[in-house]
Amino acid sequence: LPELPEVETTRRGIAPHVVGKRIARVVVRDRRLRFGISPALERELAGLRVAAIERRGKYLLLRVDEGAVVIHLGMSGSLRIVTTATPPRPHDHVDFVFDDGSLLRFHDPRRFGSVLHTRGDPHLLVQLSSLGPEPFDPAFDSSWLEARAARRPGPIKSMLMDNAVVVGVGNIYANEALFEAGIHPLRAASRVSRARYERLATSVRAVLARAIDAGGTTLRDYVNGAGEPGYFALQLAVYGRAGEACRRCGATVRLAARLQRATFYCPHCQR
Ligand SMILES: [Zn+2]
Repeated sequence: LPELPEVETTRRGIAPHVVGKRIARVVVRDRRLRFGISPALERELAGLRVAAIERRGKYLLLRVDEGAVVIHLGMSGSLRIVTTATPPRPHDHVDFVFDDGSLLRFHDPRRFGSVLHTRGDPHLLVQLSSLGPEPFDPAFDSSWLEARAARRPGPIKSMLMDNAVVVGVGNIYANEALFEAGIHPLRAASRVSRARYERLATSVRAVLARAIDAGGTTLRDYVNGAGEPGYFALQLAVYGRAGEACRRCGATVRLAARLQRATFYCPHCQR
């Protein structure tokens, strides 16, 4: 599942190959993504120049002369730079063909991804306007977290994974950030002190930054690579390590059954 670090790595990997180029044509082989691809997409994008590529949460925004192309990778999507000489494989649903013969190819076996063009401000789309701050945005801090926590019941881990609170903290990164901050994942969000929220905001940024750095080594895979763009593994402290020794204190890492998503913690390091 592409998480924020993978999406950010994708952005960095493809940016040098798409920014400044003009879209000669768009080829859609299958419109049946999570939201059907508009039959007008090919006509709307032909001739437009890509001015920039941004990321918001797990959305990629290709800024074009008129609005933006908003791409979500869903459960299994990926983007690669190839040329018109590269034959499409199964599940290569969309090609953005540039006027120099290179192209950006969208691949998505499970088809939970989406591709849409908006002529207006993409941040006003309903999918984006409800999103909370980016984890690297200074607005994501202890006072923001404390204010969100005051109004909600339930454990801190659920709050951390809520896109309205902060975007891009998936299950693995929530587990790891809570371990790093020393906070028990099942602790009530309203019973976490401001000082501990400060630590948590720092830990979220640190865990995501390490994952993005790890992804940096896979950047070349986005260009003409035979391999798949990588979903990379971090050195994980607690996630997936139930029954193993905590890397910090040696206590046995536990798996909590109470939350929907797998929740791992060290009963000694996390309170
Ligand atoms: Zn421990």
